[in-house]
Amino acid sequence: MSYVIGYPRIGEKRELKFVLEKYWRGEVDFSEVEKVAKELKTRHWNYQKKAGIKYISSNDFSYYDQMIDMIVMLGCEPDEYKDIDGIDRYFAMARGDKNHKALPMTKWLNTNYHYFVPQLQKNQTFKLNLKKVLNEYFEAKEQGIETKVNLIGPVTFLSFSRTIDGSDPLDLIEKLVDIYNEAIIKLKENGVEYIQFEEPALVKDPTPKQLEALKIAYNKLNFNEIKSFVITYFERANEAVEILLNSSIYGIGLDFVHGPKNIDSVENIAKSNKILIAGVVDGRNVWISDIDKKIAFLNTLPIEKDRVIVSTSCSLLHVPYTLKYEKKIDKNIKSWLAFANEKLDEIRIIDKLYREIELKEDKELYEKNKIANAKRVTSTQIHNKEVQDRLKNLTKEQLERSMPALDRLKIQHEILKYPILPTTTIGSFPQTHDVRKVRKDYKEGIISKEEYENKIKEFIEYCVKIQEEIGLDILVHGEFERNDMVEYFGEMLNGVTFSENGWVQSYGSRCVKPPIIFGDISRPKPMTVKWIKFAQSLTSKIVKGMLTGPVTMLNWSFVRDDLDKEDVYKQMALAISDEVKDLQEAGIKIIQVDEAAFKEGYPLRKENRENYEKVAVTSFKIATAPTKPQTQIHTHMCYSDFNDIMPTIDAMDADVISIETARNGNRLLEAFRKYNYKKEIGAGVYDIHSPRVPTKEEIVKEIEDRLKVLPAKQLWINPDCGLKTRKWEEVIPSLKNMVEATKEIRDKIFKI
Ligand code: GLN
Ligand code: ZN
Repeated sequence: MSYVIGYPRIGEKRELKFVLEKYWRGEVDFSEVEKVAKELKTRHWNYQKKAGIKYISSNDFSYYDQMIDMIVMLGCEPDEYKDIDGIDRYFAMARGDKNHKALPMTKWLNTNYHYFVPQLQKNQTFKLNLKKVLNEYFEAKEQGIETKVNLIGPVTFLSFSRTIDGSDPLDLIEKLVDIYNEAIIKLKENGVEYIQFEEPALVKDPTPKQLEALKIAYNKLNFNEIKSFVITYFERANEAVEILLNSSIYGIGLDFVHGPKNIDSVENIAKSNKILIAGVVDGRNVWISDIDKKIAFLNTLPIEKDRVIVSTSCSLLHVPYTLKYEKKIDKNIKSWLAFANEKLDEIRIIDKLYREIELKEDKELYEKNKIANAKRVTSTQIHNKEVQDRLKNLTKEQLERSMPALDRLKIQHEILKYPILPTTTIGSFPQTHDVRKVRKDYKEGIISKEEYENKIKEFIEYCVKIQEEIGLDILVHGEFERNDMVEYFGEMLNGVTFSENGWVQSYGSRCVKPPIIFGDISRPKPMTVKWIKFAQSLTSKIVKGMLTGPVTMLNWSFVRDDLDKEDVYKQMALAISDEVKDLQEAGIKIIQVDEAAFKEGYPLRKENRENYEKVAVTSFKIATAPTKPQTQIHTHMCYSDFNDIMPTIDAMDADVISIETARNGNRLLEAFRKYNYKKEIGAGVYDIHSPRVPTKEEIVKEIEDRLKVLPAKQLWINPDCGLKTRKWEEVIPSLKNMVEATKEIRDKIFKI
């Protein structure tokens, strides 16, 4: 018996994205969106049916987000949206409109999928609305498919909610369960046989209150003969299992790929009367399963086979659809990949072999899988002895810089001679239509390499000139050659490749196509030196070089699963260290190594934190180790809560760190003060997410605020983040005001 937790919905050609965007632009009616949606759902159900999956979902489709769907189902739309109705209200919550702000958005655990956060209140009322759920269930039934109805479980729904009055959302559990019970009755009346409750919130070091809520909820839920599955994923859920075993649910889903310690709970499940949904096929990475290993694993489970259902580890929402359209990717690499549809086949084959059912026509696929896995172990495309030897023989010089930070900073001040409260930016400047077009034309062969390079140089020239006119102290080249801070480097590294169509939903209609790290990583030739050197040649001011750090490179990619992740991080770090070294040799005095995704890569369980921190810090240090004391290393992190990671930030040993603080005032900076952080900090003084130009007075006040927390000698003045999404008309006056404000403060307070 086979099970798929959920299926992607954006469409293998991103059909949903395109029709939604047409609808939002007013080019088509909503009925057109509904038509496409119906086609997609039908297609997806039939893929799964054809693949022989027994438990297929309905209600895993969404026009925007499954959490918003739950808000609608539970009738807990915030009051401010009550003046509108239907699909307009739905999209107002998702995207905002003239009169409404969108709901806040945040990441679904440690994935790159963003959900919308319900806004509840102490006296929250709920009102059941099963329209979408039932529609989808019946749509599938018309296709002859008896689906399990996917719902987000009550504990996860509340755990992922916020309240507007500071009360604890979990206090609403009993009230909420009443609505779920109402839903179960209605679903039963309509013939529903199975419900899946997703409860991934319980894998994240559950609090006593969450566990109590789980107990209350699943005691009180009346399943009414409907078979109900409670699904967890991304980590171990041992605490939750103990509680769920005492409820009347039918089955429990555990992720054995990303939560190996789930195995500890299997014996207790075996002693109970519950079914185990064994998540063995990785639902959030793109590699083929080693089918033989999966069978061997399943055979170690201390539970009877007929109580085990073979499943994906999580919803397939987090992987692309199919390899069908991949024409360009190397054929060996392709043979090691499995996207959603290929995973369906794996599940079927694993299930058959596990139960010793004859493979028949699947024999060929199984043989192919064996061969591909065997090749993967020895392929010279993956395994590069030079890279491996380099990693094995890391010297002290390759692991860290030669002088302590505070001594380095002294030397740097003598050489770099920047003023107090130095002004700079985070790296990127507006990615205008022209900039994108030049890159696109080059990629498509419309313009020659020479034409392309000349154009990029023109953009750099303009950018440097503007920065000089504005009077910034430390300049940048503007990043015009980069489409994206990870993709740009990925394209130039050995061991990294890209799919043509490997899109994954990030939020709403937005999709990303992450790089695929398939083999040992090395840097065949310099990636940025030419551009940064050119920018430096245009000015007597210092130009800061810009790189993406190893941690961020991995955290935003699909990472190979045939090598310890720690080694992949370090290989990436070494590749970047080569670039750092070359930049330094080219005369670049300041190098920024961005780690925008440092915090979001944190493991879900505290027990795994120390190891992540160790590896992440080591990798950053390897990447920056070749720099001489006089070369200054910057890093940048986007909005992060630093309070609990200060020792780690300190251990990264960057000379200067810039962080996003404009929207939080001094809150983030306080962490640095409390920790007694001694190195330098660029605390963003204006928000770059808004087109608004901040006035000089506002920025003066922001700087004065920062100075209440940290001494001027430690502070840099910069915007919150890169400026690539802004327009020149916004950027120029904003930066002018920032520089003027800084000068005013210098004059006023320091009489320089
Ligand atoms: N240097 C990058 C930029 O300015 C950093 C982007 C980021 O932190 N996300 O765009
Ligand atoms: Zn940023």
